[in-house]
Amino acid sequence: MVKFPSRLWAVLLCAVTLASCHSTSAPSDRQDVSTSGSQNSTSDQPAEFKDISLRALNQRVPVIMYHDIIRRRGPGSVWFDSTADQFEAQMKEIQDKGYHPVSLDDLYKHLTTGSDLPDHAIVLTFDDNYQGFYDLAWPILKQDNFPAAMFVHTGYVGVTTKSGRGHMSWETLKKLCKDPLFTVGSHTVSHPDLTKIGPIEVTKELTDSKSALEEHLGVTMNYFAYPSGFNDGPVQDAVKDAGYKMAFTMANGPAEESPNILCVNRYVQTRLDKALDDAEQLLSGAVGVYAGAVKDGPVTYSEQEFDGRTLAIITGGRPQSVVSDTREAVIDFMHQNSAVAGINGTFFDMAAIHSTDNKLVGPCKTFDKPSILPDIEPDRWPKIRNRPVIMWGPTSAAIIPYDPPLMNDDARYKDFMPDVTDLFLAGAWLVHDGQPRTEEELRICSSKDVQDPRRRAAFGFMEDGTAFAAAAKDSVSSSQFAEMLSNAKVKEAVLLDSGFSTSLVYGEKIMASGHSTASTPSRPVPHAIVFQGTLDPNSEKAAEAAIPATTQYSDVGEPSYNQAPTGTRHRRRRSPHRRTSARNYPPPDVTITH
Ligand SMILES: [Zn+2]
Repeated sequence: MVKFPSRLWAVLLCAVTLASCHSTSAPSDRQDVSTSGSQNSTSDQPAEFKDISLRALNQRVPVIMYHDIIRRRGPGSVWFDSTADQFEAQMKEIQDKGYHPVSLDDLYKHLTTGSDLPDHAIVLTFDDNYQGFYDLAWPILKQDNFPAAMFVHTGYVGVTTKSGRGHMSWETLKKLCKDPLFTVGSHTVSHPDLTKIGPIEVTKELTDSKSALEEHLGVTMNYFAYPSGFNDGPVQDAVKDAGYKMAFTMANGPAEESPNILCVNRYVQTRLDKALDDAEQLLSGAVGVYAGAVKDGPVTYSEQEFDGRTLAIITGGRPQSVVSDTREAVIDFMHQNSAVAGINGTFFDMAAIHSTDNKLVGPCKTFDKPSILPDIEPDRWPKIRNRPVIMWGPTSAAIIPYDPPLMNDDARYKDFMPDVTDLFLAGAWLVHDGQPRTEEELRICSSKDVQDPRRRAAFGFMEDGTAFAAAAKDSVSSSQFAEMLSNAKVKEAVLLDSGFSTSLVYGEKIMASGHSTASTPSRPVPHAIVFQGTLDPNSEKAAEAAIPATTQYSDVGEPSYNQAPTGTRHRRRRSPHRRTSARNYPPPDVTITH
């Protein structure tokens, strides 16, 4: 048997001290079970390319982009100039709101390894190498001890343009580079739109600027910013081939929510308030990792009363995420997989309720398939951002906030948890580290109707790594449900589809259903979590004595499930073309919502 440490769920949040911007990053000092072996190279060793890690999702870091800093506005100024007063006011705002500017090296290390940055980390960057940076911004940054990065287009070093804008000289840049608060990056030679020029010119812009900066300044050029943010796949490839490790665009969004490390989001400085708001939209303890084997054991059933409401809970066994190419009753999913217990799974596309297709909301992986089923509807991604993805494998389990641009990619899950077998996107994170999430915290998951009273369903893990599934036998809001689960001593819990989908099955008996009418079965669902193992004999008696949820097996045309002899494996062989489709079920008599 595997021994478990007393504190199995480690939350990957702790402060680290700031490292200087040109320093060699130390090898990662945190090793957890889900860390692959590729974490230990140092940042000054080129070659190995690393993308954004799902471990970074415990934070949201805004990167701010400035251009010129000018004394006062005049006929020649543009909207993306900042006056020195405006810049000073923004630095004060950052400070007053508790933000800590960090260097590009720190950001890179955080994004690629999940290393912790201070709470409220922020990154300050400047484009186009303006002299105004040195004259007006740098003294303020120095005074505040704030790190900053400058992206230099080398064709303009030391040049004053016709409009009278000066650009810093090599001497000034050299002086700045001696300061650990300063990082320099490349911004091409001539500032072209890289998507509009040929591949040979693109490469020349990338490599010539890199070598000029390296030769003049004696530093390794790891970071790049696209002129005007313009980039595409081939340009990103060229940036990577030229030896850059991280590149910045001008798309709004926290750095962790960037599509990849070669197009990291940046907010223009006039959107500082939005940047800070976006950074706040994250639950505390956003990445929960259970570092121990998912504990197998007899599958138990119990009921617990809280404030006159009943919670039905199954624990133990080996949980498996299962999907149907149509929709099934939970008990059908169990039979098909020789499981002894089960619960309905995640949310699905309600528009298609009468159809037989299967449109899960969010990505899903089942134990028997090597790849995830990605979420292919980008239109809804902003709405489901930050909902919890729950994932598990033989040696660990984790809950991480959903970041759609990153999380439709198998490689990232495997980097995060090499032996992941199952995952799905849940509706809300109900209990974290034994504590119920509050109504306000649940709102961050933006699940519609999350506080409406329904017979709600949940899945998660206990303190020792035992999996559980639970359902309320009475209608409750999600925050009431979270309290019930916390009282039942669950460690981590996520919300499953609820209401008419709720269906908790133990053995051959439906213990909780979404319908108050005993004769109405729960609606069939496209996804379920089934439990492999053996039923605990004592629990079987308890389940026998408990009032079942319905008296009718939901698959019309089959014998009533309660008439099946208890303990008999009720396994039916499925023809590959069999469809337990929605049309086999009575049509819903009410409008079905989540
Ligand atoms: Zn520029």
